[in-house]
Amino acid sequence: MPLDEFDLIQRYFTRPVGNTVLGVGDDAALIAPTPGMQLAVSADTLVEGRHFFAGCDAEALGWKCLAVNLSDMAAMGARPRWFTLCLSLPQADPGWLAAFSRGMFALADEHDVALIGGDTTAGPLTISIQIMGEVAPGLALRRDAGQVGDDIWLSGCTGAAAMAVAQRYGKLQLGASDLAYCAARLDKPQPRVALGLALSGLAHAAIDVSDGLLADLGHIAARSQLAAELRLMSLPLPPLSDEAMALPALDRCLLAGGDDYELCFTAAPAVRPQIEQLATALALRLSHIGQLKAGQGVTVLDANDQPVRLPYTGFNHFA
Ligand code: ADP
Ligand code: MG
Repeated sequence: MPLDEFDLIQRYFTRPVGNTVLGVGDDAALIAPTPGMQLAVSADTLVEGRHFFAGCDAEALGWKCLAVNLSDMAAMGARPRWFTLCLSLPQADPGWLAAFSRGMFALADEHDVALIGGDTTAGPLTISIQIMGEVAPGLALRRDAGQVGDDIWLSGCTGAAAMAVAQRYGKLQLGASDLAYCAARLDKPQPRVALGLALSGLAHAAIDVSDGLLADLGHIAARSQLAAELRLMSLPLPPLSDEAMALPALDRCLLAGGDDYELCFTAAPAVRPQIEQLATALALRLSHIGQLKAGQGVTVLDANDQPVRLPYTGFNHFA
């Protein structure tokens, strides 16, 4: 029997939901936010051929669509709780739907977020998720909250996802183990939700690195009306072979490559010990990569603290 719209929703996207008054199946879902908390709401769309390669693995895609949304909650210091899924599909392929929903729900279960509704249409493959989370009043990690003298921090490392993209476009050639690492970074990003929650009340500004470190740090600088100084020598490097680290594309991938979904945040120098403890507690590298100062824009400093001129920024649709 062919799979129609309602069978498809019932079979692949309807599960019992614990933290919800009314989930999939009615004209709208009903949720009961925790009294006194603010709702953090965000949406992200992934379009085939633009955000992911046509024919890519459906399970990884299901994971990634939710991961990029969870990353926005992390960047706000919010606890993710509910999401909706708007799917535009060229056809109702049971194998694809089973794999996609498996990948998506695996990550949803890790973070205890519930799929509460959505919309399903026929059309070019596009996946749009809206996510809702909770944060205590005054504790969200806003882009405009950076302060003069703040340390700039980065979780994990950047660059590897962009190297996997470059390899897939035939622009560079990675060895098998480098490629495995970079592809996992691109296809299965780990949203830094626990870090975001721990930083709420400790850090000032935060953003998730989706369009490249320079561009995303630039958003913190612009919204905070400050200048950001980034020390090239302090940037954490991905764990790749010497051959990969010698590729001419490396600097560009580190500074302007997208899709890493790490957190870049700012905090007062006084809380350095707490942030270092957090790195240990979360088993996550946290690197102090620069400072916020009076002024504007992002400056990259070399080993002699001299500004470096760079021919690139980050990704920008329509630019
Ligand atoms: P409406 O006619 O009100 O737009 P739909 O027929 O589109 O409702 O959807 C029926 C129910 O299924 C709704 O509760 C909707 O939220 C849910 N739904 C539709 N598509 C999805 C999806 N991809 N994932 C989860 N829930 C979905
Ligand atoms: Mg509908």
